[in-house]
Amino acid sequence: MTQSVYDVVIIGGGPAGLTAGLYCSRARLKTLLIEKMIIGGQVLTTTDVENYPGFPGGISGPELMERFQKHCFEFGLEQRDADVTGLDFSGKLKRIQLGDSIVEARAVIIATGAQPRKLGVPGEVELTGRGVSYCATCDGAFFRNVPVTINGGGDTAAEEAMFLSRFASKVYLVHRRDQLRATSVLQERIKANEKIEIIWNHVVTECLGDNSGLKKLRLKSTVDGSERLLETEGLFVAIGVTPKTAFLGDTLELDKEGYIVADRHGQTSVPGVFAAGDVCGDSLKQISTAVGSGATAAWMIEKYLADNP
Ligand code: NAP
Repeated sequence: MTQSVYDVVIIGGGPAGLTAGLYCSRARLKTLLIEKMIIGGQVLTTTDVENYPGFPGGISGPELMERFQKHCFEFGLEQRDADVTGLDFSGKLKRIQLGDSIVEARAVIIATGAQPRKLGVPGEVELTGRGVSYCATCDGAFFRNVPVTINGGGDTAAEEAMFLSRFASKVYLVHRRDQLRATSVLQERIKANEKIEIIWNHVVTECLGDNSGLKKLRLKSTVDGSERLLETEGLFVAIGVTPKTAFLGDTLELDKEGYIVADRHGQTSVPGVFAAGDVCGDSLKQISTAVGSGATAAWMIEKYLADNP
């Protein structure tokens, strides 16, 4: 079993983790960033980022993350593609198990973010990858000239509806209420888009299809309970996110939804372990706030390490 000791180990390579990595490595702390998937996080699934300052006219999510990656590794930040398989935060040196190897760190930042929430209705699992998707940017282009459906009423649903209207013959947006949660500018855009039809006050209760893919959705009215079938070949689920914290077990205090409980500086229930970005319960889930919390956690770690030599 190999073992290395770092000043800081950051788990998660989205905007929060990358920013923390930039700040820590620039502060000359020996820092390792661990990411089990692709560096960039959820932003990679965003077509256009219009509200991250410095990019008038917007920038695509993957391009923005490519810039983050290039920049954040300029000061010696190390990286490992690995899955965290065990954690021990009980000692002064925190132990992070990565399969056969263990890394030790004087301080840790958890920045694992969040992932799309599942609907939990019959047919969803069976038809995932054959019509049911959680990422329009990834899968939207497969649905040229066919009707598709988005479920949800937030910013993600609105952005995905706009994106899918470039390909699909028709975009239904199914929302459980009679008012969208999405920001006003996105609401205005989807209401002005002739390809998008909003089906208010309905939820998806079943995905129906066969081996060739999704064919119909069963919808239920949240007003009178009546049911209807909607013909569609794609369902994009955009009903919010859940934090990626299962791997933490009971090492840190989590709230009832599974988000990490941390103070406004990212300090968790364990001294020396900080949290940043969407994995924190009070996160605004914006790239700009993830960046801010990554910087804050790194700054707190500098103080923590100075006080705990
Ligand atoms: P969200 O804001 O939590 O919205 C989830 C939507 O899904 C809500 O409209 C909600 O309905 C609905 N919903 C939740 N559970 C449902 C269920 N079981 N069945 C049917 N509908 C359900 O999630 P999001 O749109 O993924 O956004 C997540 C966060 O990322 C937000 O903070 C958002 O502002 C941020 N974000 C920002 C941008 C941007 O700034 N450009 C882009 C994407 C996301 P109700 O409205 O009735 O609760």
